[in-house]
Amino acid sequence: MATRLKDTDVVIVGLGAAGGVAALPLTQAGIDVIGLEAGTWLTKKDFAPDELRNNVRGWPQGAQKANQEIPTSRATSSSPTAPRGSIHPMQNAVGGTTLHYWAQSWRLNPWDFAVVSETKRRYGASRMPKGSTVEDWPFGLDELEPYYDKVEYEVGVSGQAGNINGTIDPRGNRFEGARKRAYPMPPLRWTDFIERMAGAARSLGWHPFPGPAAVNSRSYQNRSACMYHGFCNRGGCHVDAKNSTAVTTIPRAQATGHLKIVTRAHVTTIEVDGHGQVTGVNYVTDGVEYFQPAKAVLVASFTYENVRLLLLSKSKAFPNGLANNHGQVGRHYFSHHQGAGVSALFPFNLNAWYGLPAQGVAVDNWADDNFDHGGLDFIGGGNLWVYSDRRPIGAAGMSTFGRAPGWGSAWKSFIKEYADRSNSAYIQKSTLPYEDNYLDLDPEVKDPLGFPVCRITAEYKENERRIAAFTQDKMEQWYREAGAIAIQRAPVGGAMGVSTHAYGGTRMGDNAETHVVNRWGFAHEAPNLGVLGASVMGTSGAHNPTLTVQALAWRTAEHLVKNWKHIGRT
Ligand SMILES: Cc1cc2nc3c(=O)[nH]c(=O)nc-3n(C[C@H](O)[C@H](O)[C@H](O)COP(=O)(O)OP(=O)(O)OC[C@H]3O[C@@H](n4cnc5c(N)ncnc54)[C@H](O)[C@@H]3O)c2cc1C
Ligand code: SF4
Repeated sequence: MATRLKDTDVVIVGLGAAGGVAALPLTQAGIDVIGLEAGTWLTKKDFAPDELRNNVRGWPQGAQKANQEIPTSRATSSSPTAPRGSIHPMQNAVGGTTLHYWAQSWRLNPWDFAVVSETKRRYGASRMPKGSTVEDWPFGLDELEPYYDKVEYEVGVSGQAGNINGTIDPRGNRFEGARKRAYPMPPLRWTDFIERMAGAARSLGWHPFPGPAAVNSRSYQNRSACMYHGFCNRGGCHVDAKNSTAVTTIPRAQATGHLKIVTRAHVTTIEVDGHGQVTGVNYVTDGVEYFQPAKAVLVASFTYENVRLLLLSKSKAFPNGLANNHGQVGRHYFSHHQGAGVSALFPFNLNAWYGLPAQGVAVDNWADDNFDHGGLDFIGGGNLWVYSDRRPIGAAGMSTFGRAPGWGSAWKSFIKEYADRSNSAYIQKSTLPYEDNYLDLDPEVKDPLGFPVCRITAEYKENERRIAAFTQDKMEQWYREAGAIAIQRAPVGGAMGVSTHAYGGTRMGDNAETHVVNRWGFAHEAPNLGVLGASVMGTSGAHNPTLTVQALAWRTAEHLVKNWKHIGRT
């Protein structure tokens, strides 16, 4: 029998990118919040530059819960289950995955909010990919712009604006939607190699610009500027220059006196009353069960766990899982197509042993609908990203570009000569949701508490594979222009495995029958349940999700503050 704890106003499940941001506007408004976090506080000692621990062994001290509930995956409902990995990419800690993420902090482009209407307007209805369930967001970029701005300043984002109130600045991204003001910090500086790549892009007639990063390019909010020493590709920052929520919004929320953080609290289910209102959550710490009552609950435990928690929370009112009486929880799932990269070999050193993955040059000429798709057979596109980051183990694992065997003395001398002469681009491509791509509970595999893990049934379809091949061509052209002597392309992709950019499953929209949450992020069927994270998003665009996740989280929390009397259970 769970111990019933003292009532609170709001429970947030998970204090990562989304939950860690939502806590601030709530507590600033005087609402009492309990943050139930499965992980612990991590210390600077945990952020030592240790490639073996962080990149190879997967944070054995930090990601204990995540590593024990890795989703299973299969391409289609009739394909075999893929071999299950042993490391979950996400983090369990106060600050969540913002502790060890790459910190690229992009806004979505205007097109990403209106894929269906814009595609039909520009190319005709026949261009919508078959089987896709993509739809326009219930609002456009202008609605989210103030929240992007808020988060960029609260968390701290460095970057070069490309469009302030409609005035284009060619130093930034000329394709971005209009923003009200510049970033709070200038962009991270470039290396010689990044300058060279920017020059090559310009000579192709493209528009290179520095990508936005939640990393201090100068001292900000009394925290250090970045030292560019690296090791934070899956590592934390020992000088707090990376702006995780653990060093930004969470301590500020604590300072209000209205945030209580309970660490090592593994939330297992969400309870409801007879009217379908959420009453609180059950959690387990060291095998002991607690029930934390609350007037409202915000679930912010990353896409797979958001969906799993809802599906596990069965009751008389919700026999198929919380807020799932219309069978929508788990639907419209997709993950960014992060594979299909391109690697290049150069005849000179790149000095990439110095730098971090958020320090780089982007080209958006081939992203979203920034180019004419009239003669093409797909919609969407990709962001081309070249960055400075190489660690010893990663370098030793580089491709030999068919110039040496993968072992022995010939391999060793190749690595010795070329370890600092190769670069791999990160090409982030739009991905759409499809009817037959979804999340549910695995019928066989369980976590150590006996709860089924999440199961992914999803594959990249023709539209995504065509984008992949197209953007690989562009990336190869860019590398060759910069002097590459050999190119290697990764396969264009099939099954969607576990992803760090996982979207959908609790899609947002105005129709209570087809959307899990409304335009404010609250469940249509359980109005005092909010869902935070990319699980509410219906499109991915060609850029990383976290800034959008955080802007949405702020907006949902602000809506709760403004409507506390109507939403909070009395
Ligand atoms: C290596 C890496 C690099 C990345 N780089 C970028 C990047 O450059 N830019 C970008 O935009 N995105 C990046 N991402 C993705 C980014 O980390 C996610 O978009 C973001 O963290 C999602 O926010 P979230 O709050 O949904 O999840 P998280 O930040 O993971 O937070 C979820 C929190 O919930 C807690 N939790 C989970 N289950 C429970 C439970 N049952 N009970 C209690 N607590 C629970 C977890 O411990 C965690 O603290 C990267 C991810 C990885 C792994
Ligand atoms: S490179 Fe910058 S952000 Fe990364 S750990 Fe070093 S100081 Fe921190």
